[in-house]
Amino acid sequence: MAQILDGKAVAASVKVEVASGVRALRRSPGLATVLVGDDPASHVYVKGKRRDAEEVGMVSIHNELPAYVGQDRLLELIGQLNTDDQVDGILVQLPLPSGLDAQAVVEAIDPAKDADGLHPANLGRLILDLPGLRPCTPAGVMRILDHYEIPLRGAQVVVLGRSFLVGRPLALLLGARGIDATVTTAHSRTRALSEITKAADVLIAAIGSPRLITADMVRTGAVVIDVGINRLGDELVGDVDFGPVSEVASSITPVPGGVGPMTRAMLLVNTLHAARLRGRLS
Ligand code: NAD
Repeated sequence: MAQILDGKAVAASVKVEVASGVRALRRSPGLATVLVGDDPASHVYVKGKRRDAEEVGMVSIHNELPAYVGQDRLLELIGQLNTDDQVDGILVQLPLPSGLDAQAVVEAIDPAKDADGLHPANLGRLILDLPGLRPCTPAGVMRILDHYEIPLRGAQVVVLGRSFLVGRPLALLLGARGIDATVTTAHSRTRALSEITKAADVLIAAIGSPRLITADMVRTGAVVIDVGINRLGDELVGDVDFGPVSEVASSITPVPGGVGPMTRAMLLVNTLHAARLRGRLS
């Protein structure tokens, strides 16, 4: 039976660390959340993020706009948050309602306040291996691997999924100098997927397809990280068929309670980081 990589517990320890970082600052960092429309899942996510921020001593500055808001009004709000001295991190909850250009909104955020780490300037810094704000989910996966001291140098790591939100930045972080994993990225057009997954020392699924990864696709003793969050009726399940795969893997993240809490914790890490950098500049 595999060891459970407990994202909830690791996220709690990250939050303790962030709270102590916050106490050491002269003022409380501000995290601005922007929620557009009435998607119930987005409301739940933002509520959680605001609560997290308050728990670690940050100021939560919440902005809610109706789904019919125009692109111009949304960009105007981003512009105000960019110049607001109280705001250190800006998070625009995605997806945005149809008719709004999410990419343009993300690009309008000051890269120094880009709490989600998705601005092209920050993604560019990631490619260049320069310090910057990293996308939260990939950063959360790296943190949980680090916490459990999963060996990565020279390891065969297979990342399933190539989205700009998860797969691609994660592959870059894993292959960066100093981490030194040998990374294979697979996607919907990959042929003979299970031959690739079976070669993985560390298998990371970020697909969005419930229980797609079955036990026969996993090498005995592999580490399995399940990023997927899929709703099956009332149940939340990952991309990995957890029960049977945990009979084969050496360690595995559960869903829920694995990567999800780490993503939330890394938003706080980014906001603290942004506040420290701004503090140094002002
Ligand atoms: P996405 O839809 O943007 O990308 C999915 C990727 O999976 C694509 O690159 C696609 O090529 C690949 N893919 C599809 N079918 C495949 C297959 N059969 N084999 C291999 N690759 C395949 O999704 P995303 O935003 O990257 O999110 C992926 C999953 O992670 C979703 O379930 C999402 O809900 C979840 N997610 C979780 C967190 C978290 O905090 N845990 C954060 C973000 C996303």
